[in-house]
Amino acid sequence: MIVLFAPPPMEGARPSKRPRTSDADSEQDSKFWYQDGNIILQAGQKRFKVHMGVLSRQSAVFRDMFAMPPSREENEGNEDDNCHVVVLQDSPQDLEILLTLLYDTLSIYKRQHQSKLPLPTVAAMLRMGRKYSFKHLRTQGLSYLKEQYPDALFSFDLWCPSYGQSTEGLAEVIAMGHENSLLDVLLPAYWKLLIYCDAKGIVKFFDEMDPSLKACLRFPEPITSLLGRERIRSLAFETTLSFLSEKKIPVKSCTGAKRKQCQQTVDDIQLECLQSDSTVTLKYALQPYYGYKRDFDKKFCDLCYGVLKETHSTGRSQLWSQFTEAFGISKNQNIWVEEDWASDAE
Ligand SMILES: [Zn+2]
Repeated sequence: MIVLFAPPPMEGARPSKRPRTSDADSEQDSKFWYQDGNIILQAGQKRFKVHMGVLSRQSAVFRDMFAMPPSREENEGNEDDNCHVVVLQDSPQDLEILLTLLYDTLSIYKRQHQSKLPLPTVAAMLRMGRKYSFKHLRTQGLSYLKEQYPDALFSFDLWCPSYGQSTEGLAEVIAMGHENSLLDVLLPAYWKLLIYCDAKGIVKFFDEMDPSLKACLRFPEPITSLLGRERIRSLAFETTLSFLSEKKIPVKSCTGAKRKQCQQTVDDIQLECLQSDSTVTLKYALQPYYGYKRDFDKKFCDLCYGVLKETHSTGRSQLWSQFTEAFGISKNQNIWVEEDWASDAE
């Protein structure tokens, strides 16, 4: 018999309405077709013959689904291989990843251990874990993502010390952050976007984003990022770059010819920030001080340089803590689904 299963819609989730395919169109998956399986799951045109016990052991949603006797209307469908067929509204890829995670645990944990989980796997862990209450998958997916995109500035700097120019995987991570309301992940992801992309680059980044990822975004892009970028730029002058406006440099004990040179260097930096595109200011403000070596470092006396580094470091922590709100992705926008990641049915 055929059971068309549609779990309650998740707010903010990607719509996955797909008309049920006729049995004639569907094909057996080559990997997940166990002769002793006792349930057939269908996603799109793919059918997977698996075991109810494997699914319901970890998922309360599957457990309830299998416990429910099919209605008379559902009984009118066909049987396949003497098994019930459950049609899910997920993509075949997501379902295949889910089954791989449930059946082939060793290879997944090996890859996770080596920090080599492909991002589509992480996305499916979060998406399917959330939809079908696989607490373990959600927690693992989230912890893997947070390892790559930590929400603490200190860890972020350790993870990204070289600040290379690659935005590889960033679109997937931003989409996952939106889809699963992970503001903690969006912070480092957007921070990285501002370091790597100028205004033109941001437009290109979202233009080239895969439509399936773009569908996850909760607010219009690139406009939110472009406006956020400008707000972060002005906030930088109150935090990371506050030494420019607060007359902290030259320090009192810096005197004579040295004082003149330190003052001149502050003026030069100020002029550079004013004259150039925001990208220069943002790179200077968002990267750790050691990540942005400039000739003018050598022009400061030791005393002034110490104050500069201290101000930059303290200010950068302040900027980090104010980032999500200033950038325009804070909780106040009321668009994020409050997720309780910890309290799931076992
Ligand atoms: Zn000085």
